[in-house]
Amino acid sequence: MIFYIEQIYEEGLDFDVLEPKERFDLDYADIVLTDDVKAKGKLEKSGEMILCQGSLQTKLSANCTRCLQVFSFTVNAKLSVNFVPKVESNRSADDIELSGMDVEQEFYDEGQIDLSSPSRDLILLSLSQVMLCGEDCLGLCSECGANLNDNKCNCKYVGSGDPRLAVLQQLKDKLK
Ligand SMILES: [Zn+2]
Ligand SMILES: [Zn+2]
Repeated sequence: MIFYIEQIYEEGLDFDVLEPKERFDLDYADIVLTDDVKAKGKLEKSGEMILCQGSLQTKLSANCTRCLQVFSFTVNAKLSVNFVPKVESNRSADDIELSGMDVEQEFYDEGQIDLSSPSRDLILLSLSQVMLCGEDCLGLCSECGANLNDNKCNCKYVGSGDPRLAVLQQLKDKLK
């Protein structure tokens, strides 16, 4: 996903690319990129800065944190990155204050910008810390391990299905 800055003219450069999923190296035990990554948007010059505004679409398969089942997750993210020239000094990215809150900042080098790494970050960020197959996933029974989405087991415990929440509930009950 490399673009040459010399090809970005006054009016900007529109892009619409489909990047093979293998390039993103997103193949973990619990998260796998299953579709190629569609990226489209516009690159514009602003002084030395290159502004990228666009969107990303792809699909992941992930394991539900609650019931451990694999589910498919559609990524539909806003791509908003500012590329600034890489400086040779010790100035770090932290020194450059940005006014826009949700704009990511990257460095560019040798007259080219690469959207791969911000795209990869964005894909990972689109997954929340708690990945659920559905908002109302019932999880596993903390007693017998049955997937409560499929069938109810005969255990006495009836709760949210999340063993950690069950522990919290027990604590709460004690405090009453
Ligand atoms: Zn689930
Ligand atoms: Zn059970």
